[in-house]
Amino acid sequence: MVELHETYPLQRMTTVRTGGAAELFAAVGTIAELQELLVWANAHDHDVAVVGSGSNLLVADEGVPGLVLHLQRQLAEIETVSGGLRCGGGARMPKAAARTAALGLAGLEFAVNIPGTVGGAVRMNANAYDGALASVLSWVEVVSAQGVARRAPHELGFEYRGSALRAGEVVAQVQFALTDAAPETVRATLAEMRALRHAAQPKGIKTFGSTFKNPPGASAGKLLEAAGLSGLRIGGARLSPKHANFVENVGGASTADIVALMAAARERVLEHAGIALEREVQALGPVSFPWEEASRAG
Ligand SMILES: Cc1cc2nc3c(=O)[nH]c(=O)nc-3n(C[C@H](O)[C@H](O)[C@H](O)COP(=O)(O)OP(=O)(O)OC[C@H]3O[C@@H](n4cnc5c(N)ncnc54)[C@H](O)[C@@H]3O)c2cc1C
Repeated sequence: MVELHETYPLQRMTTVRTGGAAELFAAVGTIAELQELLVWANAHDHDVAVVGSGSNLLVADEGVPGLVLHLQRQLAEIETVSGGLRCGGGARMPKAAARTAALGLAGLEFAVNIPGTVGGAVRMNANAYDGALASVLSWVEVVSAQGVARRAPHELGFEYRGSALRAGEVVAQVQFALTDAAPETVRATLAEMRALRHAAQPKGIKTFGSTFKNPPGASAGKLLEAAGLSGLRIGGARLSPKHANFVENVGGASTADIVALMAAARERVLEHAGIALEREVQALGPVSFPWEEASRAG
């Protein structure tokens, strides 16, 4: 069986660099290994979670019970197939986008700005600059303790920054259907998208990207700025002065600091604009968001 690590630190596996350790951790390289571990975890009643690039993830400070998986080797490969690309769930989106430029394939350019894995992108229905993940997906191979199933995009329950994939359902492989294009056109689009992103977002900071989802017809970042929240700081966590919907770890932040900052910012936007922001960032382990607890209790 694949090597299992106990009390494995996850902080460095996230882009914001907070949180504790996984009770059990394994890096898996093939579908067979993945399936074996999922069956084992199910038989031993362990919860299962996946960490991709950790680029939209808050890990609980007290750690994550159960088994945390990371996809590598075969499950992170990118290969050319007729009419597109086949990627492991652990392949990185920017790398897949760069490959399409070399091959002269259009449709996946938006992935250049999503610093996550293909599996994380499917789980989150990640998008940028009008790119539409669902429109370039042919199929997604999902592995669970029950087996391997190939799903079409309409079977994934996509919604704004979400899908119906459940814990214990791992995106192992994805096929993208792309269209032929001149390599220099794809390369130019990638350069343009990188430049747009560079101008709009802070670079070189420890963050997990968008903290809150954009409410219908509004921008979470603009609502936070209008409420005077840019630069608000709690402990080592701060709302970026350049893009208020990004939390930065400015030094020694804990996940608790970030949750406290999110709660304070959300409360202020509610008072200022009457809009209740919903979080986009995902939690791993027992992270408690007070406003969600309150609405469940009420
Ligand atoms: C600077 C910055 C810019 C960003 N810009 C964008 C943007 O423009 N658009 C956008 O949509 N997002 C953006 N994000 C957020 C993030 O990159 C995306 O949500 C991305 O899809 C997350 O992928 P990941 O591999 O990092 O997933 P993680 O953060 O590791 O995990 C996110 C969720 O996906 C699950 N998951 C991960 N891998 C798998 C898998 N193989 N199978 C099943 N579930 C899995 C995790 O368990 C977790 O629930 C940005 C983030 C940063 C830091």
